[in-house]
Amino acid sequence: MQVTVFSALSFEKEFIEKAGSGHQINYISEPLTLENVQSATGSEAVCLFTHDDASAPVLEKLKALGVKYVALRSAGYEHVNLPKAQELGLKVANVPAYSPYAIAEHTVALLLAINRKLILAHEQIKQNNFALDNLVGFDLNGKTVGIIGLGKIGAITAKILQGFGCRILFYDIAPAPASFTIPASLVSLTELLSQSDIVSLHAPLTEATKYLINAQTLSFMKKGAILLNTSRGGLINTEALVAALKIGQINAAGLDVYEKERALFFHERSAEPLTDKVFAELISLPNVLVTGHQAFLTRTALHNIAETTFYNLNTWANGQDSENELAFKETHKNEKEATIVA
Ligand code: NAD
Repeated sequence: MQVTVFSALSFEKEFIEKAGSGHQINYISEPLTLENVQSATGSEAVCLFTHDDASAPVLEKLKALGVKYVALRSAGYEHVNLPKAQELGLKVANVPAYSPYAIAEHTVALLLAINRKLILAHEQIKQNNFALDNLVGFDLNGKTVGIIGLGKIGAITAKILQGFGCRILFYDIAPAPASFTIPASLVSLTELLSQSDIVSLHAPLTEATKYLINAQTLSFMKKGAILLNTSRGGLINTEALVAALKIGQINAAGLDVYEKERALFFHERSAEPLTDKVFAELISLPNVLVTGHQAFLTRTALHNIAETTFYNLNTWANGQDSENELAFKETHKNEKEATIVA
């Protein structure tokens, strides 16, 4: 099958080549847009990542070009207009779990780096500054961590932090039965925010979670708490977070995602001016650590992403249904989880 891979990043090609052997693969380094959709001409399938535009007009164009399959190289699918895909008869599948460990471990890495001020410590050491005055952290042991969305990634994050001696609270609108095997207490969102020393976001971006963290919910948080987000940037109103960080309502934030990351992340832009003023202010704050959507970036995850992506395509090519297919009815079985359509 001819497959056009959009947003193809150099580090993933070796995994795609291996998993997709036998297929004719066309790599486009830019994200899919209405302007470059023609690049998929002749392909039966497109392979998309989180920053690709899979809105109704783009899907219509893909269909007109003869594309039948949309294989996502991501777990999140909020960028795909699933009702439109279904209407057009385009099959869409994601990679539901490629390595929840990768994202959970990165979440904890952000927390440790912020709390123990590892970046500042290293910068100071490089300048022959061995003073410890600016580097005081706190013990994680005994702290309360609130996990919003105790799914695959949230559950592993909870388990890792239990190992540090933390008490775990969680808030989830549809907790999986496995959630209750973890020593974590299900509480309301308000209780979680008011009791947690650290709040970590692991819910998907949906209509219900868009700006879940806003001026009001930030004001419910324990003064001086730490906020972590390795889920999706849209869960946080960034301007409200910046304001809360400036007044010390929030002590620090560790973020792998940003609501307007599509215009920034995944590309070398050191020669370009940073025009996003909100992002510029966010990263200028001393108590903020941002990584550019790299929580997934382990060799294990890249291998699993490529394998599942081509498993989905091969299954369809053999005339079968993939269990990873995002049928519209399925995604709307719970209204609260209805995805934001692109
Ligand atoms: P999952 O489906 O296993 O878990 C999500 C959990 O969130 C579920 O238990 C669900 O019930 C809960 N949830 C849904 N809506 C909610 C709401 N309104 N309030 C509270 N809880 C709610 O998903 P996962 O595999 O754990 O992934 C979580 C998210 O992580 C993904 O949606 C994706 O956005 C993000 N992610 C980020 C990266 C990265 O590199 N930074 C990589 C993979 C996934």
